[in-house]
Amino acid sequence: MTQQTSLPFGRTDITVEELEQLVDTEEAATQAEKGGVNDAKNQIEDFITYIPNLLNWLEEHGRSYSWRETNDPWKVYLAEILLQRTQGDAVEKIYSDVVQRFPDPKALNQASEEEIREAVHSLGFVNHRQRTLEEVGRIFIQEFDGEIPDFIEDLKKPWRVGDYSARATQLFARGKPMSLVDSNFARVIGRVLGYEMPQQPHKSDDVYALLDALTPTDPDVARSFNLAILDLGALVCTPNSPDCESCPISATCQYYQSTKSEGQ
Ligand code: SF4
Repeated sequence: MTQQTSLPFGRTDITVEELEQLVDTEEAATQAEKGGVNDAKNQIEDFITYIPNLLNWLEEHGRSYSWRETNDPWKVYLAEILLQRTQGDAVEKIYSDVVQRFPDPKALNQASEEEIREAVHSLGFVNHRQRTLEEVGRIFIQEFDGEIPDFIEDLKKPWRVGDYSARATQLFARGKPMSLVDSNFARVIGRVLGYEMPQQPHKSDDVYALLDALTPTDPDVARSFNLAILDLGALVCTPNSPDCESCPISATCQYYQSTKSEGQ
């Protein structure tokens, strides 16, 4: 198993030459073409040259959350379940309490329905979350002897735990380089590359193939790359009013270039 050496933003001081060794440019270009990216190879190569800018931006502006300070698979997995359809700031308010109440799958499995509901009630979607957490405790105890499974398909066994949560656990806790696909991620990459995102990018094998090829193979850089895109999507490249003028990758962004030329 590959282990990370640093937290929380991974490795942000990387050169373009190093990145070129860590990113599968050919595969990324092949996959980008499938999404209608023009001149895909050049676009991907150009994007790679701006990744150091993106990682510098992360170092300065990235969000600090408690679950980014740990590589304990249980704590990361629990955070990802709490983060489903929920803002990080809301989760941060209750996260340490939830971790204290349920320090492992056994504690969760022994908790009553009421205790679970009380722990997460401030986040909303209480029925949904209670059922998911109840299944996490039961399944991890019954099928994995109280351990946190190390395969994506096993991490997805509890009700409504999907690829994002499972992959985030493997990436952030276990240092396995892989991409995350959520709406922020899809929006940023779609805009930057001019990639035509499908309606449900998190269910598209093509989108995963593209983003896995773009994700650097070094665990620390994979961590920083994913965190940078997630935070850029949350803070700068927002759905309705992206702040392109302060974006660290605007010079390689197809969306920005096209809106600029429209305004000329
Ligand atoms: S330049 Fe604008 S559209 Fe492009 S990634 Fe940055 S914020 Fe998003």
